[in-house]
Order: sequence, then structure tokens, then C-alpha cells
Amino acid sequence: MSSSKTINKIAVIGAGIAGLTCARELQSHGISVDVFEKSRGPSGRMSTRRTQDWSADHGAQYFTARDARFIEAVQSWIQNGTTAIWKPKLKVYEAKTWCESQSQDIRYVGTPHMNSLGKHLAEDLSAQYEKTISKLERMDGKWHLQCSEANEISTLYDVVVLAIPAPQASALLKDLDSRAADIADSAQMKACWTMMANFPHQLNVDFDAAFINQEIISWICQNGSKPMRQGSMWTIHGSPNWSQENVELSKEDAQDHMVQCLTALGFNCEDADISMHRWRYASGGLENSVGFLSLPNIGLGLCGDWLNGGRVEGAWLSGFNLALALKQI
Ligand code: FAD
Repeated sequence: MSSSKTINKIAVIGAGIAGLTCARELQSHGISVDVFEKSRGPSGRMSTRRTQDWSADHGAQYFTARDARFIEAVQSWIQNGTTAIWKPKLKVYEAKTWCESQSQDIRYVGTPHMNSLGKHLAEDLSAQYEKTISKLERMDGKWHLQCSEANEISTLYDVVVLAIPAPQASALLKDLDSRAADIADSAQMKACWTMMANFPHQLNVDFDAAFINQEIISWICQNGSKPMRQGSMWTIHGSPNWSQENVELSKEDAQDHMVQCLTALGFNCEDADISMHRWRYASGGLENSVGFLSLPNIGLGLCGDWLNGGRVEGAWLSGFNLALALKQI
């Protein structure tokens, strides 16, 4: 990558928290950025499923903040109303016993929905949705992007940032840079089966959310316990190991297993209206975090949770730090 004076146009692939953060930081430095996202809207795995009757956060459930720069960003989101602190009554189920959680973590959620934060971060960006980037080619020092829905993107880019999960990055990288493709291939991402259950009445339980250990379910949470939400919608996550081992189950079979587990935990699911979602790449990443990857020789950057310890904060920091590195080139 040559000096920043010659970086006129950057394409960011992926509008999750990492891609949006990277794009905003670059744009704040006066660089022209286009974001391409395969889904219908921004936010990636910080997502909310909405129907006529209910809505539920079905990806990330909350986030924590430890890094000073991330804490500062979170405070600004609290001030503009897109984030709030969530104080759930939290339990832990382990060895067939329920107990109070001892966790002192401060937990944050997007408001009024988890994807509200991504929508806010995307506001001032040039973002194109339902654009799946299927191929990247570098010719005469410029990137040409191909897109499944619209063939070739006419704009040429000096730099491309891949802000997408490792397996999806690997597919785009394999003919471009074998070292980066190998790094992406070595990331271990695991699936997550997610159940959204709408109960016709409030459940008779004395907690808002619970970590479930040593079962096929690992998390259960009443969506209505979070700030600015209502209703008796519960989100239930399968454990990473069980979800990965059973990633190819049909939705019906995955639901049967999870309902059985919930019933054993004391939930009567008979009247519940249930929807299932399979996250193929939900969590995990590189064993040794590298933060982000910058390949100046070919004008390529990679960011995302899988490069930086997983989770929302890791994704934000990865996008933020990649933007800083690109600005300095
Ligand atoms: P993503 O959010 O995955 O964004 C990548 C984007 O790229 C997506 O929008 C995708 O559609 C798009 N994309 C992919 N390929 C292409 C392509 N070829 N062209 C165009 N666009 C493409 N984290 C926490 O901190 N706390 C939690 O409680 C928590 N719970 C979780 C529960 C579940 C079920 C899941 C799935 C995740 C959870 N996480 C949690 C993890 C957290 O959601 C992620 O770490 C974070 O959102 C990742 O952000 P990202 O920008 O790296 O990736």
C-alpha cells in the first residue's frame, strides 16, 4: 500500500460492528469509504429478529467493556440513546443445581434493540445492503469487486477491508494471499443453534437470564428484561460444542433437542410459539489473537472478532485498530 495520499477509495466488506467501526474511523480521517453487506441491514451478529408479533435479540445478548477507548465509545452511545446498561437477575445452572450468579460485570445492550447500535453506526456511511461480495481481483494496483447480486461493482478501490467471519474471509482470500488465507483457515469458529420462544404468559421463574453449564443449552434470557423491551419472548442458545456437533440438524430436530433440555430445566414449552435460527459462524476464532491483519503490499486489511478474542468489544477494537493502521500508511 502506498502513502495515504494515494488512498482515495476503500471498500469495507461486512457491516458488523468491526466493519462499521473501521469504516467510520477511516471516513473521519477524510477517506472515502463504501461498505458492502450481504444482509438487508447493518449490525451482523448483533442482531434482532422481528415479526409482527414479537422481536428478540437472537445474536449477541449483551456486551462488556474493558478497554478505555471502547468504554469511551460506549458512553457516547449511552448518551445518544442507542445503548443502555442491563442489570439482569442472573442465575447459573450447574450440576443440576440453580444458584445466583456472582458476576459483577457491567452489561450493555443496544436500545431499543441490539441492532439499533449498528443502525446508528451506519447512519453517516455509504453502505449498500444485499450485496454479497463473491470475488476480489487486484489489477493495476486497484481492487475490482464482484458481487453475487449485481455482478461487477463499477467503482475501483485502492484498499479492501474484509470485516467478515474467518471462513467467509478464507473463501475470498484463497486465490489472493495464501498466508492470509491460511490464518483465516486456522481460526476455529463454532456454530450456535438459537431458539426464540414466545410464551403466551409470563413464566413463573425468578431470574431474567441464566448461564446453563454442562447441558446442550448454554444461555437462556427473557428479552423483555432488557431496557426498552417488553413481552414474554425468551432467547435460548445451544452450547457452542453441541451446536457445532449438530450444525447439520434440521431446524425441527434441533428444536426437539432444545425443548427436551428446557423441559428438564423446568420450562413448560407446550404453548410456546418457537422459531429457530442457525448461526453457522457464531463464536471463536484464532487461538492466539493478532488483533487485525494489514497487508500493505496488496492493499488489504482484515478485522473482526475472530482476530481479536471474539465478542463485541474484540470486534470493535479490531476494526478501530485496523483503521488506525491504515491511516498511518
Ligand atoms: P459480524 O457481526 O459477523 O459481521 C460480519 C458481516 O459481514 C455480517 O453482517 C455478514 O452478513 C457480512 N458478510 C459476510 N460475508 C460477506 C460477503 N461476502 N459480502 C458482504 N457481506 C458479508 N458477543 C458478546 O460480546 N456478547 C454476547 O453475549 C454474545 N453472544 C453471541 C451470541 C450469538 C448467538 C452470536 C452469533 C454471537 C454472539 N456474540 C456475543 C459475538 C458477537 O456477536 C460478535 O463477536 C460480533 O458481533 C462480531 O462482529 P463482526 O463485525 O466481527 O462480525
